[in-house]
Amino acid sequence: MKALDELTFDNRFARLGDAFSTSVLPDPLDNPRLVIASDAAMALLDLEPTEAHSPVFAQLFGGHKLWAEAEPRAMVYSGHQFGGYSPRLGDGRGLLLGEVYNQAGEHWDLHLKGAGLTPYSRMGDGRAVLRSSIREFLASEALHALGIPSSRALCVIGSDTPVWRETQERGAMLLRLAPSHVRFGHFEYFYYTKQPEQAKVLGEHVLAMHFPECMEQPEPYLAMFRTVLERNAELIARWQAYGFCHGVMNTDNMSILGITFDFGPFAFLDDFDANFICNHSDHEGRYSFSNQVPIAHWNLSALAQALTPFISVEALRETLDLFLPLYEAHYLDLMRRRLGFTRADEGDKAMVEELLRLMQNSGVDYNLFFRHLGDQPAAAAVAVLRDDFVDREGFDRWAAAYILRAQDGNEVERTARMHAVNPLYVLRNYLAQNAINAAQQGDYEEVRRLHQVLSRPFDEQPGMQAYAQRPPEWGKHLEISCSS
Ligand code: AMP
Ligand code: MG
Repeated sequence: MKALDELTFDNRFARLGDAFSTSVLPDPLDNPRLVIASDAAMALLDLEPTEAHSPVFAQLFGGHKLWAEAEPRAMVYSGHQFGGYSPRLGDGRGLLLGEVYNQAGEHWDLHLKGAGLTPYSRMGDGRAVLRSSIREFLASEALHALGIPSSRALCVIGSDTPVWRETQERGAMLLRLAPSHVRFGHFEYFYYTKQPEQAKVLGEHVLAMHFPECMEQPEPYLAMFRTVLERNAELIARWQAYGFCHGVMNTDNMSILGITFDFGPFAFLDDFDANFICNHSDHEGRYSFSNQVPIAHWNLSALAQALTPFISVEALRETLDLFLPLYEAHYLDLMRRRLGFTRADEGDKAMVEELLRLMQNSGVDYNLFFRHLGDQPAAAAVAVLRDDFVDREGFDRWAAAYILRAQDGNEVERTARMHAVNPLYVLRNYLAQNAINAAQQGDYEEVRRLHQVLSRPFDEQPGMQAYAQRPPEWGKHLEISCSS
């Protein structure tokens, strides 16, 4: 374990030079104070949890202090936003402070979000508000606990700095951790600005740092693209299986590592709704829940375009064609587990589709359905769940087939098996909102409690029943502000 001043830096991305990022110092927040820290994320840096409570911690992550070895940089990238190309995006309000390596030899990017103006701020103020920082913190750590790859969050630092959104709010900073902050949009930037040498420097860097196994392949770039595609197919399968809607799947928000990245108006489904749109400025539903699958594929084809200088179009096409089958295989595998099956069967796809159709028609709570399906033996469980469905005959037909299918010889450990993959606690929007309301009054207890509950989503926790319920009337269909 280390103290804060003992972190070891090795700033590999900064060393690529000014074509890739610009040196910028954080702009400090007024009266920085700890809102929340994640012990699990602290451990990734070998930091003792108690370090979060030292005054230096809030100063470091509130932009007042820096390690001598840190080299804060704003990265340049571009990307496709809602289908249209934006030629210059970049870190408009976040800084890569540096790369820290831990005792296990892993590198972690320290990215401070809300750190002030950069050359890429465009019309923005370079800030992040407390509300959105808390949402990103809770979501990153909750997704990780669910087994869904994600960037991580070390802490949120609150402040007295006024920040204007729809109304006056308070500025905050979030310290994000990820093995890399390279996005699809990084490759697009160098491709569309016609800088082939820099594109190659970026490609070689990403290969060497993050895909060393691909360097041994006959075509390293192709192997890397294929790995990126495979990881994204698996990531999206996990989102779809657990009802996570990202909301802003622009190519600048897609990580080259296939992790959930850049949280905005995201939401977990309460009632199942394939057409759910969590982003209120997404009028056409480009990023609706069910569209996440074709959009991920589209985003990968945007990345493929940017890789045409390195890989033949034919090989890129062939690789892109693998996405849907890979996605489907992962998704079905996850859904089988959620249903408690221990082996595959031909009829599984149809059984999942029919269940989702029934859930959609009746507005059944998506995650609680699976949890309760595992509470008891199949026949007893469906007899209780039946009440949630309007189309009882339809559900009874499904349930009869399900009961037969559930008897695949492994009834005994069914509950343990199903509860281990079906969360009791998910980050519902209204739960986050309750925690934010309290935090905006200076009370951080609820954020911390919610974070604790969500860090063990599969374990029933005494006294926490309130977190395992459907939303109250006010908490359904909350309009989450897209400003952040
Ligand atoms: P996002 O929608 O958060 O993924 O951001 C898209 C682009 O806008 C990125 O280049 C961000 O850095 C930039 N951006 C978002 N919010 C702000 C802000 N408040 N100030 C400056 N830039 C911002
Ligand atoms: Mg972004």
